[in-house]
Amino acid sequence: MEPLTKTDPEIAEIILREEQRQRGEVNLIASENIVSDAVLLAQGSVLTNKYAEGYPGRRYYGGCEVVDEAEELARSRALELFGAEHANVQSHSGTQANIAAYGALLSPGDKVLAMDLAHGGHLSHGARVSLTGKIYQFEHYPVNADSEMIDLDLVEQLAREFQPKLIVAGASAYPRIIDFAGFRRIADEVGARLMVDMAHIAGLVATGVHPSPIPHAHVVTTTTHKTLRGPRSGLILCRKKLAKKIDSAVFPGGQGGPLMHLVAARAVCFQEAKTEAFRQYAQKIVENSIHLGEILSDGGLRLVSGGTDNHMILADLRSMDLTGDIAEAALGKAGIVVNMNMIPYDPAPPRRPSGMRIGTPTITSRGMGSDEINLIGNWILEILREPTDENRIESIRADVRELCQGFPTRI
Ligand SMILES: *Cc1c(COP(=O)(O)O)cnc(C)c1O
Repeated sequence: MEPLTKTDPEIAEIILREEQRQRGEVNLIASENIVSDAVLLAQGSVLTNKYAEGYPGRRYYGGCEVVDEAEELARSRALELFGAEHANVQSHSGTQANIAAYGALLSPGDKVLAMDLAHGGHLSHGARVSLTGKIYQFEHYPVNADSEMIDLDLVEQLAREFQPKLIVAGASAYPRIIDFAGFRRIADEVGARLMVDMAHIAGLVATGVHPSPIPHAHVVTTTTHKTLRGPRSGLILCRKKLAKKIDSAVFPGGQGGPLMHLVAARAVCFQEAKTEAFRQYAQKIVENSIHLGEILSDGGLRLVSGGTDNHMILADLRSMDLTGDIAEAALGKAGIVVNMNMIPYDPAPPRRPSGMRIGTPTITSRGMGSDEINLIGNWILEILREPTDENRIESIRADVRELCQGFPTRI
C-alpha cells in the first residue's frame, strides 16, 4: 500500500475503508465472494502492462512469449477442472462471455428461449434494456406458479411453439438444482442448441456439488468471481467443433486485448478450485445455505420454492409484511448485507420488490459454520420482525462486528 498512499492518499484511504467494511459486515450477497491473497497478487501484477491481442502462439504483438504460458495454463486448468474440450479465458466478465457465445451461435434477429429475468434469469439473457435483447429475438420461460421451480414441460411447450435456435439455461436468482439433461432433450427435440450460463454455481459444478452442464450443453459460460472464488472475469467452455467460432467471437468479435493479469488470476483460481479443501468449501456453502434457510423458514419467513439446494435462498418478505427495499435497508444498518430481489410472479415493482436474495459463499469463505449461521439467522428474523427498532438494530450491529472479528476476509 505504501506507494499508493504516497501517490494517491485519497484512493488509498478508500481501499482501506472498503477492506474494513468487508471485514466488519456479514456479507450475504449471493453473487459475491472473497478471493485468496494468491488471486489478489496475480491480478495486481505487472501482467497488466502487456498487450496480447490474439491467442497463444498467434498474437498481434511481440513480447508475448511469457504471457502465452499464463494463458495456456489457465486454459488447460479450466479444461481439467470442468472436463471440457475447449476453453476461452479472455471474456472480461460474465455478460461479455454471454455476448460472445451468442455472437458465435446466432445471427442478429435469431430466436432464443431463456429464463425470465423476473423469475431468476439475468439481464444478459435478453432483457429489453440489454444489448442482447435488442440484437436477438428473445422469448422467456417462467417458473411453475405452484412449485416456483423450473417446469420442463412448460419449457418444452414454449420451445415447440417458439422454435428457438438457442435455449439458455442458468440463473441469477434460482435456489434449486437445474436439470441440464432435461434442457438438452428439449433443445434436441426442437433442433436448438443449448447454452448453459452457470455463473452463480460454477464453484459448485467444479466440485460436483451441483451436476455439471458440460456433458449436455453445446456452450457453457460463467463468471469466475461468484462461487468459483476467482477474479472478476468470464470463461467460456465448449465442444472442440465450436472452438474457432467462440474464440473469434470473443476476439476480435467483441473485445480487444485480453487482461493478462486477470488471465493469470483465473489460472490461480482454477488451481485452487481443484483441491480437496475447495471441494469441502463448496459443500459447506450449501450446508450453510440449507441451515440458514431452515432457521428463517422456522421463524416464519416464506422461502421461494420452499427451500434451497444451492448457495442461495430467495425469501418472500410478504410473509412478514415487508418489501425488499425496507428489509435490505434495515439489515444493512445492522451490518448484514443482502440484496432486494423480485420473486416469481411478483406483483410489486422492481424498485420495491417482494423478495430478498441471501447467499452463503462469502461467510463460508471466512470460515463461518453452524454456530454462526444460528446467530445470523436469528438476527435477521429479529430485524425483519421489528425493522424500525433502532436500538435493537444498533445492538445487533455491535454483535455483528464482534462476530466478524473472529473471521478474516483475507484468505
Ligand atoms: C452474474 C451473472 C452474469 C454476469 O456477470 P458479470 O460479470 O456481472 O457481467 C451472467 N449470467 C448470470 C446468470 C449471472 O448470475
